Amino acid sequence: MLPTTLAQFADVLDYPQPGLAEKSRLCAQTVARMALPFLAVDSRQLSPDALLSAFAREVEPMAYGLQEEAYASTFDLGGAYPYIGYQLLGETYKRSIFMLELKNRYHAYGLSEGGELSDHLVCILRYLNVLQDEEEFCELTQYAILPALANVVYNNSDVTLILMDNRWTCMTGHQPNPSTGADSFGDPREQADFEAILKAFGIKSVTSVYSYDQEKMTAALSEAIEFPGPAVVIATGECQLQIQRRKKWQEPVTYVDPEVCIGCRRCLDIGCSAIQFDKVARKASIDKLLCVDCGLCSQICPYGAIKERK
Ligand code: SF4
Ligand code: SF4
Repeated sequence: MLPTTLAQFADVLDYPQPGLAEKSRLCAQTVARMALPFLAVDSRQLSPDALLSAFAREVEPMAYGLQEEAYASTFDLGGAYPYIGYQLLGETYKRSIFMLELKNRYHAYGLSEGGELSDHLVCILRYLNVLQDEEEFCELTQYAILPALANVVYNNSDVTLILMDNRWTCMTGHQPNPSTGADSFGDPREQADFEAILKAFGIKSVTSVYSYDQEKMTAALSEAIEFPGPAVVIATGECQLQIQRRKKWQEPVTYVDPEVCIGCRRCLDIGCSAIQFDKVARKASIDKLLCVDCGLCSQICPYGAIKERK
C-alpha cells in the first residue's frame, strides 16, 4: 500500500494540474484503506483521508490560476521550499551533483522529472514509489530525510512527524532490522533506541505510543500537533502479520455480535478490509480470513458490538 500512497501523494503535492481534486480524492481513498489513526483538528476528529478529502473539496471550485497562486504562496513564497537538495546542501555545486545523481537513477528506472528539478520532493517520492533496492531506499531516507529533519529542527519548523516502527522490514519479506530486537538467526539483539536518536537530533517533543491503542494515539497526536516546533510521535506496534505467524495463523477471536450491532457503520471508518457491512440486514461482520485481531475496531465501536471469543 505504501508505494501506491507515495505516488498518489506526489500527485497531490505536485504543481497544480487539471484533475487535482480527483487525485486528492483518490489518495484519500488509498489512505483510508491504511486505517491511519484519527487526528484532532480544532475540536473535530478527522482522519488523514478526511483531511485529503477536505483539501479536494477546497480546490475543486478554485479556478486553475487560483490553484497556481495557492501553490506558489505555500511552497515557493511561504518558505516550504520543496527541494531536498536545496534544504540539505544549499545553492552549492554539491546540490548540482546530488541532482545529477538523482537524474541518472530516475532514468535507470525509466522515470522523468517532467520539467522539475530532480531534487523536488515530488520527484523523489515518485522514485521511492518504484525503487526496488531496499538499501538505496534506506540510503535516501537516512542521508536525505534525516538530515532534512535536522534542518527542520534548526529552523524550529512547526511540523509533526510520525515514525511508524513496526519492527520488521515488511516491503521485502519481513527481514529483521535494527528495530526488530533479533538478528537474522533469531538471536536477541538490542533494539535501536529511536527516542534517543531523535532527541540527539534536538527534537524536544518525542512520544512513543502503542499503535493499536486508538485513544492514546489520538491524544499523543493532538499533543504533538499543538506543540510549538517539531514534534515526533513514534508508533510502536509490531506488524500484525508477524504476530499471526507466531500464533500459526489461528482463527481470529474478534467478531461482531449481531444482537448488539445497530448498523451505525462507525467501524467502517477505520478502513479495515476485514470489516464487511450487510446493507440489507444493516449489520457489520468480520471476515475471518482477513482479520488479524489487531483490536482497533472494538475500540471504535461505540456500542460494544465487537467482541473477542474466549
Ligand atoms: S460500529 Fe459497532 S454497532 Fe456500528 S456497525 Fe460497527 S459493529 Fe455495528
Ligand atoms: S480486529 Fe480484525 S476486523 Fe478489527 S480492525 Fe483489526 S484486523 Fe480489522
